Amino acid sequence: HHIISDGWSLGILIDEMAELYRSVVNGEAPNLPELNIQYADYAAWQRKWMEGPVFEHQLNYWRENLRSVPVLELPTDRPRPPIMTFNGSFEPVKIGRGLTTKLNALSRDQGVTLFMTLLTSFYALLNRYTGQTDICVGTPVANRARPEFENLIGCFVNSLALRVDLENDPRFVDLLLQVQDVTLSGYNHQDLPFERLVDSLGVARDKSHTPLFQVMFTLQNAANTLDMRMPSVDVEMLPSVAKTSKFDITLNLEEGSDGLEGMIEYNTDLFDRETIHRMVGHLERVLETVAEHPHLRISELPMLSDAEYRLILDEWNHQPQIYEYKDSVHSRFEKSVIQYGDRTAVKIGSESLTYNQLNAKANQLAHYLREKGVEANQLVGISLDRSIDMVVSILGVLKAGGAYVPVDPTNPQERIQFILEDAGVALLITHSAVQGSIPAGHYEPVLLDELSDELSHRPTDNLPNISGEDNRAYVIYTSGTTGKPKGVLIPHSNVIRLFTATDQWYGFNEKDIWTVFHSFAFDFSVWELWGALFFGGQAVIVPSIVAKSTEDFYQLVCEEGVTVLNQTPSAFTQFIRFDEYSREDKPDLAQQLKLRYVVFGGEALDFAALQQWNEHHGLEQPQLINMYGITETTVHVTYHRVTEKDLAQRQSLIGRPIPDLDFYILDINMNPVPVGVPGEIHVGGQGLSHGYLNRPELTDERFVPNKFGVELERDKGLYDRLYRTGDVGRLLLNGVVEYLGRIDDQVKIRGYRIELGEIESTISHCSGVRETVVLAREDSPGDRRLVAYLLMDNEEVELSDIKDQVKKSLPDYMVPKAYVCLPEFPLTPNGKIDKRALPIPGDENVAKQAYVAPRNDTEETLTEIWQEVLHLEKVGVTDNFFDLGGHSLLATQVVSRVREHFNVELALSALFEEPTIENIALHLLQAELESTDDMEMADLLAEIEGLSEEDLKNL
Ligand code: AMP
Ligand code: MG
Repeated sequence: HHIISDGWSLGILIDEMAELYRSVVNGEAPNLPELNIQYADYAAWQRKWMEGPVFEHQLNYWRENLRSVPVLELPTDRPRPPIMTFNGSFEPVKIGRGLTTKLNALSRDQGVTLFMTLLTSFYALLNRYTGQTDICVGTPVANRARPEFENLIGCFVNSLALRVDLENDPRFVDLLLQVQDVTLSGYNHQDLPFERLVDSLGVARDKSHTPLFQVMFTLQNAANTLDMRMPSVDVEMLPSVAKTSKFDITLNLEEGSDGLEGMIEYNTDLFDRETIHRMVGHLERVLETVAEHPHLRISELPMLSDAEYRLILDEWNHQPQIYEYKDSVHSRFEKSVIQYGDRTAVKIGSESLTYNQLNAKANQLAHYLREKGVEANQLVGISLDRSIDMVVSILGVLKAGGAYVPVDPTNPQERIQFILEDAGVALLITHSAVQGSIPAGHYEPVLLDELSDELSHRPTDNLPNISGEDNRAYVIYTSGTTGKPKGVLIPHSNVIRLFTATDQWYGFNEKDIWTVFHSFAFDFSVWELWGALFFGGQAVIVPSIVAKSTEDFYQLVCEEGVTVLNQTPSAFTQFIRFDEYSREDKPDLAQQLKLRYVVFGGEALDFAALQQWNEHHGLEQPQLINMYGITETTVHVTYHRVTEKDLAQRQSLIGRPIPDLDFYILDINMNPVPVGVPGEIHVGGQGLSHGYLNRPELTDERFVPNKFGVELERDKGLYDRLYRTGDVGRLLLNGVVEYLGRIDDQVKIRGYRIELGEIESTISHCSGVRETVVLAREDSPGDRRLVAYLLMDNEEVELSDIKDQVKKSLPDYMVPKAYVCLPEFPLTPNGKIDKRALPIPGDENVAKQAYVAPRNDTEETLTEIWQEVLHLEKVGVTDNFFDLGGHSLLATQVVSRVREHFNVELALSALFEEPTIENIALHLLQAELESTDDMEMADLLAEIEGLSEEDLKNL
């Protein structure tokens, strides 16, 4: 109280507090000498010091050294609360005499103190836990360097923030020297009160963590530290210590005759005891290793105990199961035909085919393709809208022995051309209606509509099978970092085993009705299509216009009695909204919902968003399942059934691997990381792709040798590899995996996989662009969008030319929604582009057309709706919804708000066809006119007054 009231918060006078506590506990009078005078003297001295030149010098030193220190993101058991608490506990640490002696010897050899050796090991541990290389640790310093206060009882404690750089994975001995350096120069500038430093650095006072550093290290009573004596606190005697934690964690050690002893004090809001217990084990392991091998690099220091290693590797990672895989996709389908011939196989709108009919049509096409020379493994392009013909074509190609390359006809010509050339297809199955949007090339078009007569004369019986399970089934193209998409090769067996290996969880059957919601150019469609057709179920193809409208899609799911629904979490969020609305307004429709399973995939699932759904539907009927997967590993990798408990927390759980896949979470040296610690997900086993088409180097880079030596039945080189996913995850205590994000610049927007590098490379090739950075920003929750930042060569360059060029090269979902031209990029202290400092795009960068203000109440209201939905401040009535960053999910929001405000059902297609406020207002007025009487007519006319003559004519 005295110190603080004196205007100082210097820290804690631990000696005195300990003495006070001891005396209170023992019922004695505290033995506190005349403190007041001394403290007052000290405070006075310090005040004077702060006016002197040394103060300025020290302040500059720390300012320079602690510029933009990142927060240390330790992997916590629970998310960090927005306001930090100091609830704490501790876990003992004991380092035996033998090891302590070795550590002392090492310190002597290296010419450093034991304090520095221990602190260096602590940095190593923190680096391995966080992957961060710029780490700041606090340490208390007894501020007694002033001779005049030499005999002051107790000590004034100040904190030093010691920041080291672990970039480039230093050797332990080199890090040790760095720590020595940083510590010594820290001591030389130790007088500046920490609080003062924090104030002057203007460190954002984020209340979720302590400023500058979140972890602390102390070593007490060690003779060979540089004046680092700290008062000793007997932990046993101070039960109150156990209840608080000043920092996320504090490593307190004390050297005694038995070695080093102490504890890790930790914040119990963030960590469980078991986690800290394991951390203590890892620290010990690190200390043991560096004592013997101080020349190892930090990444090379083992942390796991043997037991932990076996648990993680053998029990959780390696899945020895082998499931049935020896079949081809089409022959598996043909088995369904035998069993379920007369059941409906595919359906779109009012059109449908039974298994027999679908098989017959596919056979006719396959016969034709064989005549055209298609042989085993040959790639055949398919470019069709969603249709029954699309399914016939896929089957036709497979039956002919080939593998299909799906090409979305709505892609820009440049991209279509690239894919067809890269895959080297000789035949492209398409339709005369879409042929116009496909560039001519070195392939022969197979026009299904024009050929239909000819095809109908081909035999309808199954062809002799010429493809084995190792043959290619499909090649799906996915975004590539270097600017061009890459083709992922998947053999038949991968698809077969996907369904045998997951059958234990699902038990799909002939009564199941599936939607084929996803484009056949993405592999979620592989799951949707064969999930229906391998089991005798029905595949309901969702036309693209329906897929774009949640409302129409919801209706379809209800009316068709769909039982298995596969969705990206962002699409399902919209689905939930519609479900809410329909249960109110269209109960008859909502009652028809018959879902058995909702399977999530493609992007991280936010469990909290399912709360509302759970309230009305529970988690049994349907079951909600999160599946994590990658095109390169054949659709799915893990399975997690959502439970009630999951909904309460914010972790994105992806569960456990499918039992025939190996799943390792590894550090940069390909060693398993401890439980709870993030690492890169690696996948091996029967789902692995055969690599990228015509890209051997890239294949070797991503499909690396499996050093865990899993013996698979098939001893083909490629199978014994691990796919480096670039995804970051960690194992939780129960063996469930939590998804944490990416280590690179790949992003997901509404489930679309996008390499930002591909967009950057495309923009960079536009003339006039000097440099560019593309980010996926989420400035308002739930609305992720791509933003391009540009440095131009000169001012004459027209942004619109660049935009046009980009639109011509990239599919819609990869086109940036906003462009921001900057004079230069903000840089980090190390001279890299500081992406976090790039500005939020302002309205001026998106709305490029001349602004036209609303002219009547309808337009006024619509403008408000658009501004809300698009998060823009000013929208003109002639601005294009999609140019302003709108997309189909936001469009459905417009539709539902229009419903609320006007009580009119705006067709989503109206918004797609004429995406301006002006036009929507006309639609609404028209709707109103149709349902109005004469009395209201006068009001309406008054409203119409604001419109132009031409608009009125249209009306
Ligand atoms: P794709 O190849 O298009 O299926 O994209 C694969 C990527 O999507 C993965 O590498 C992940 O980054 C992401 N992803 C897929 N499923 C999930 C999931 N359930 N949770 C989180 N991310 C996912
Ligand atoms: Mg996927």
